[in-house]
Amino acid sequence: MRFVADRMLGKLAKVLRILGFDTIYSNRVDFEELLCIGRREKRIVLTRNTLIRNKGGKYAFLFIHDDDHKAQFEEVRTRLNLNIDPAGAFTRCILCNNELKKIKREDVEGDVPDYVFQTHRDFSSCAKCKRIFWKGSHYENMRHDTRFM
Ligand SMILES: [Zn+2]
Repeated sequence: MRFVADRMLGKLAKVLRILGFDTIYSNRVDFEELLCIGRREKRIVLTRNTLIRNKGGKYAFLFIHDDDHKAQFEEVRTRLNLNIDPAGAFTRCILCNNELKKIKREDVEGDVPDYVFQTHRDFSSCAKCKRIFWKGSHYENMRHDTRFM
């Protein structure tokens, strides 16, 4: 399942990316553009914009009711019957939506904080923004927030 999230759903988009779901999000994309991307790329439009309700069956969309990103994720999960694969978690850049590539531990020495290097084995990086990711505290928080990893 792939998504395009509107500009009010930045935190939800990050949660979905962390779980490995291909989710387009940019705060520069306007509503009409959002719908175009959804239709063109066969993505489910996630939106808080009530105008979506007038669009009838023309678009695959989910109207998000809640303000809180944890509750928003719960809406997506239950209403779309989202199948969460723990193996998919942390395979996608939280910022770019790019797929991450695994990198060797020895290659990150000096590029990550020493304590992170000492305490972690698995690292991956984003070819686009060059950030390095590991399953640190962010991952633990996400596990706690979503309860599905
Ligand atoms: Zn990136």
